[in-house]
Amino acid sequence: MTNPPARAEVVIDLDAIAANTAVLRERVARPLMAVVKADGYGHGLVPAARAVLAGGADSLGVAVLEEALALRAAGITAPLLAWLHAPGTDYAAALTADVDVSVNAEWGLEEVVAAARATGLTARVHLKVDTGLSRAGATPAEWPGLVAAAARAQADGEIAVVGLWSHMAYADAPTHPTIGAQVTVFEEAVALARRAGLTGARLHLANSAATVALPATWYDLVRPGIALYGLDPLGGNPADHGLRPAMTVRAAVALTKRVPAGVGVSYGHTYVTQTETTLALIPVGYADGVPRAAGNRAPVLAGGAQRTIAGRVCMDQFVLDVGDSAVRAGDEVVLWGPGDHGEPTAQQWADAVDTIHYELATRVGGRFTRRYV
Ligand code: PLP
Repeated sequence: MTNPPARAEVVIDLDAIAANTAVLRERVARPLMAVVKADGYGHGLVPAARAVLAGGADSLGVAVLEEALALRAAGITAPLLAWLHAPGTDYAAALTADVDVSVNAEWGLEEVVAAARATGLTARVHLKVDTGLSRAGATPAEWPGLVAAAARAQADGEIAVVGLWSHMAYADAPTHPTIGAQVTVFEEAVALARRAGLTGARLHLANSAATVALPATWYDLVRPGIALYGLDPLGGNPADHGLRPAMTVRAAVALTKRVPAGVGVSYGHTYVTQTETTLALIPVGYADGVPRAAGNRAPVLAGGAQRTIAGRVCMDQFVLDVGDSAVRAGDEVVLWGPGDHGEPTAQQWADAVDTIHYELATRVGGRFTRRYV
C-alpha cells in the first residue's frame, strides 16, 4: 500500500473477489452460488455481490431475508436464495422480490404456502435436509413428512421445489468420516424426494472447503463463501488454490513516544518494556473489530517488520513496541492483508487469537472506513 493511510481503513480489492470467483467457477465447471451474507463476509454486501457476479457467479446466497431485500433494493437481479428464517418471516416480501427461500420444516412450508396464496405467486423453495451438522434442515426422520407436504404444495402450484440441499460439518477436514456419512444421508434424502415427484430440484452441498477439496460433493451447483474473498477454507495458503485475499486492514500511527525500560503498557500492564524503546499508538480497538484477545499475541506490520501487539487491546486503540525503528506518527501499520508486502495474513491473525479468519473478516468494522480498489 503506498497511499498515506486514513486513520483506519479496510481496503477491499474487488478485482480479487471477481478473479477468485472466476477461478472457482472454472474449476467446478457448473453453476456457482456465491455466498455474500454477513455484509459480504465484511467486504460490503452490494460491492461483493457485484464483484462475484462480474466474476461469473450464477446466483447469490444469503442467510436472512433482509440481506436479500437489500440486494434487490440495490438493483441486483441475479437469482438469490435466503435460507435462515424465523417464524413470522415476511415471505410475501420474498416472493414479490423474486427471492428463493429455504424451508426446514412443515410449519415453515405452511408459512411460505400462505404467502404464495396471498400474493398469487409461486414460491421457489429449496428444501433443506440436516445430514449431520445438526443445525438447519429437517432431520432424516422429519424429511418424509416435509417432502410429502412440499410435493402436495407443488402439485397445487403454490411452490416449485427448485433445490434440495444440505451443509457439511467437516468439509475443511477432507478425509473426515462424517463426509461420507453426510453424502449418504443426502443421497438417500434426494432419492426419497425424487420418488415423491420432486424431480426438478437442483442439488447443492458444497461450501468453499468442499469446492476446493471434495469434487464428489459438487452436485448441480457449489455454494462457496470464504474462498471468494481469497481466504483458504482449509487454513493454508490461498495461493495454493489460485485465490487472492481481497481485504487489507490498515491504520495510521496516532502517536509515538520514547520510554525507558520497565514501563508497563496498556491496561493491566501485561507488557513491560525490556529496554529504552519507542511505543506507537494505533487508533483502532475492539470496538472496531480488533479482537481483545490479540493483545500480546497478534502481529502487525510497522516500520518494515512484524511486531506483536504490546499489552491489551483497548476499546479504541492498542500499542506497539517499535524499538529503535524510525516509525513516526502518520506512518502506516497493516494488521492483515494478502501477505505479499510483509504484512501478516488473516490466517496468521486467526492462529494468533485462536479464531478463524471468517470471524476476523466479518467483524472488522466499527470506525474503520472502507475503501474499494
Ligand atoms: N452455505 C451455508 C448454508 C452457509 O452457512 C455458508 C457459510 O457459513 C456457506 C454455504 C459458505 O461457507 P464457506 O464460507 O465456508 O464457503
